Amino acid sequence: MVRQDLRGRGIRDERVLDAMGRVPREVFVDRVRPSDAYGDRALPIGCDQTISQPFMVALMTEALGLEGDERVLEIGTGSGYQTAVLAELAREVVTIERHAALSEEAARRLDALGYFNIRFVVGDGSLGAPQGAPYDRILITAAAADCPHALWDQLREGGVLVGPFGSSASQWLEARRKRGDRVEVEYLVECRFVPFVVGES
Ligand code: SAH
Repeated sequence: MVRQDLRGRGIRDERVLDAMGRVPREVFVDRVRPSDAYGDRALPIGCDQTISQPFMVALMTEALGLEGDERVLEIGTGSGYQTAVLAELAREVVTIERHAALSEEAARRLDALGYFNIRFVVGDGSLGAPQGAPYDRILITAAAADCPHALWDQLREGGVLVGPFGSSASQWLEARRKRGDRVEVEYLVECRFVPFVVGES
């Protein structure tokens, strides 16, 4: 997976490649043969949601430019796979999921794998987690028309927010850097994510 689907498709950050080599993806998907867990595709994780394909996880993580000391806010815990990759590369991760069942399952897996720098929150991620703000990085793993204001407000000056924005049919993965009143936008790739749903489940 790392050689063919990640390095082979242009992922260059060695720390991201190493982290994705370490996190056992098969732990995060049920009812799938272990070898199938590593194919470059999204897979079902229950509650009508999917675990993102490895290439997309790598691209999003690389775009965050993590160096090790950051506090990261993630919206959309899902299976917890992306959360594990973030926890490998940052100081602390706060992750929000609207489906309690997914959050509990992810917490159980990540505890069993020995990650202790993650805080799990159940609720509507469009509100963020204001108690812990500001965050150095924010990652949104579900597609919204645009970035919710509360999340942008919780990003520190100079920080980066990554997420898929657009309509349900067509989205672009964007990296947005906060520069005072300005936003520096980098368009990374056209993509298709499950919808960002405002409100609790
Ligand atoms: N990163 C996950 C995949 C996430 S799929 C993984 O590696 O497995 C997107 C997730 O975002 C879904 O679990 C969905 O329930 C969640 N989600 C969608 N809208 C949300 C919201 N407003 N607040 C919190 N979570 C949300």
